[in-house]
Amino acid sequence: MKKLTVFFFLACSLSSGFSQEVHLDGFSTEGSRAQEELENLFLETVDFESFKTHLATMTRHPHSAGTKANEAVRDYLAAVMDAAGLETTLYPYDVYLPSEPGESLVEIVTPKRSLLNQREYILEEDPFSRHPELKKGWNAFSGSGDVTAEIVYANYGTQADFEKLASMGIEVRGKIVIARYGRNFRGYKAKFAEQYGAAGLIIYTDPGDSGYTRGLVFPEGPFYNESAIQRGSLVTENFTGDPLTPFEPALPTDGKTKTKRLRPEETQLHRIPVTPIPYGEAEKILAQMKGKPVPAGWQGGLPFTYRLEGGPQLTLRLMVDQPIDLVPIYNVVGTIKGSEYPDEWVILGCHYDAWAFGATDPNSGTSMLLTLSEALGKLAREGHRPKRSILIAHWDGEEHGVIGSTEWVEQMKEELSAKAVAYLNFDAGVSGKNMGGSAAPSLKKVMTEAAKRVKYPDSSKTVFEVWAGDKKEPSLGNLGGGSDHIAFYMHAGIPSLSGGAGGPTLYHTNYDDFYFYEKFADPTFQMGGTIAQWAGIMALRLANASFIPYQLPRYAEDLSLHLSNATSGIQAYASGFEGFTRSQEALETLKVASTEVASLLQTTLATGEPKARKITAVNRELLRLEKSFLVEEGMPFGPWYQSLYASNDPFSGYASWMLPAIQYEIAKKSTENLLLLDEQYEAALHRLIQTVQRIERVLTAD
Ligand SMILES: [Zn+2]
Repeated sequence: MKKLTVFFFLACSLSSGFSQEVHLDGFSTEGSRAQEELENLFLETVDFESFKTHLATMTRHPHSAGTKANEAVRDYLAAVMDAAGLETTLYPYDVYLPSEPGESLVEIVTPKRSLLNQREYILEEDPFSRHPELKKGWNAFSGSGDVTAEIVYANYGTQADFEKLASMGIEVRGKIVIARYGRNFRGYKAKFAEQYGAAGLIIYTDPGDSGYTRGLVFPEGPFYNESAIQRGSLVTENFTGDPLTPFEPALPTDGKTKTKRLRPEETQLHRIPVTPIPYGEAEKILAQMKGKPVPAGWQGGLPFTYRLEGGPQLTLRLMVDQPIDLVPIYNVVGTIKGSEYPDEWVILGCHYDAWAFGATDPNSGTSMLLTLSEALGKLAREGHRPKRSILIAHWDGEEHGVIGSTEWVEQMKEELSAKAVAYLNFDAGVSGKNMGGSAAPSLKKVMTEAAKRVKYPDSSKTVFEVWAGDKKEPSLGNLGGGSDHIAFYMHAGIPSLSGGAGGPTLYHTNYDDFYFYEKFADPTFQMGGTIAQWAGIMALRLANASFIPYQLPRYAEDLSLHLSNATSGIQAYASGFEGFTRSQEALETLKVASTEVASLLQTTLATGEPKARKITAVNRELLRLEKSFLVEEGMPFGPWYQSLYASNDPFSGYASWMLPAIQYEIAKKSTENLLLLDEQYEAALHRLIQTVQRIERVLTAD
């Protein structure tokens, strides 16, 4: 039977009984019909008003990890999910983090003493900006120290920027470095500054990157004003989570299981003092610098020529005294138990800790998940329980280093390896109106297909159509670093995706509050319900399909692109390199095998609902697919990252590294391990092919 492509014009939808015949991936014809009806019911059940209520309630007070205010948010999450009928469990951990900024100051000492401002202005228009519990600008996991020194400007503080300074003969040792936010994870600015011997580091947001040269500033517009400060963590360990317990869950110290913890001296945490300041204050420093002008590309948006050095007449004092200690954090996980396959889990999550109010980052995602919990809970109560279990997780301690989700994955690793179908991440998932997403190859199709079922607010179009724009398909990215999918995807080999709607952002400032949300993110609060509908359709398809609807042929398609990119990456410095011939050959086999099995899955479903035994056997193999990329010894840059398929860039943090073991070789401009790498990737591809072949055998056995 030919697969039909289905378009849902919801605005003029036919009554469901007479609609065009549908054939959803992973469902039989009959199953597709039942799923379509369930989806109609689900779409109607999502309460668009509830999103706004949850967001307003959760963002009343600043609530960073380890504070009483965050415990109040935790209790609210548990109460809402309980009331929605989910089985709610708290997962406590004791983790090593600074819950308060402690003491800090930045002062121009000479030529004229003046203390710099480290707080956002109180704004008449924004009542949240006067909240007494708001904290000053700070970088979590700064070293503690008190230094007075000359200044060096290091552009974005990337490795290349520091190399450039060295090549220009600019001495960083013993100086205070000032660098602008952007281009890499802020922790790497600190790492490189420390490596080059800097006494301290000041990070600021340049108006050229997110201030007045981009547009009107807050509260008139959505860009950083001269007092807005980006907060954020500085951890750059080669694993995520609690810095004292790599590989192990940081279980509470008073519990039965004793977790072995590193001593703080054994970690790679930075030692130099680091603090962020707003551009209004950075200007006071940069304007007084006297050295040579900066090279091309280093000039920012302030109205004078930037210089490399301040010279001896300009000295600065930077003091940070930031206590770090074991602090309790809590994940909140709600479960809707599956009616047929309770031991297969579809997991959705977003963190709930925020640097301040967290209206967009993260709690727009949190509120969306609560709205979704209520809709799914209601359906379950009315007898429409999903076949697989759906877990909705609210992670703590993400901002400090993706801690809560990592500890949970480490705690549940064996169970997750056997049970997890997918992890769907929605960090800051409803921050605006522009759809976006990135995913593992197997999940790309379910993401875009689900978007066809959801109406885009104030429009006759579907989310899919708005998202695709003038293209045939929405473009999806590959997962990088920066949020709670990391441990699932890169440590445990669970297919993951990250998605949502973005917009203007006052990222990690005290102004990311409900006033900003209503004024600039989504004034009519329609996107929250829309994203809940989209996330819910994805979850329900993954949970109800007879065969888990992974897109099998996409592995070969994406891998072929990544492998050819990697090959040209190597040829750029080793022109004789002829490519990863063994992996390339395996890839051809995979392409044929996975295309065959994908159509075999379809024809099997077209003849009716397969036998339960067959369904279980096929899905057991499908759950193994992504784990083909896992290697026990991990990546050459660290054993915790265990997926040969993807990692975050270990030199910059956020960017995604596809085929990371090869990328590392490229970063070192080495050819030493190319043969070994070819064998390693060939072996992973063979594991993938064997799994695909086992599926074929199950399907063709009577
Ligand atoms: Zn976030």
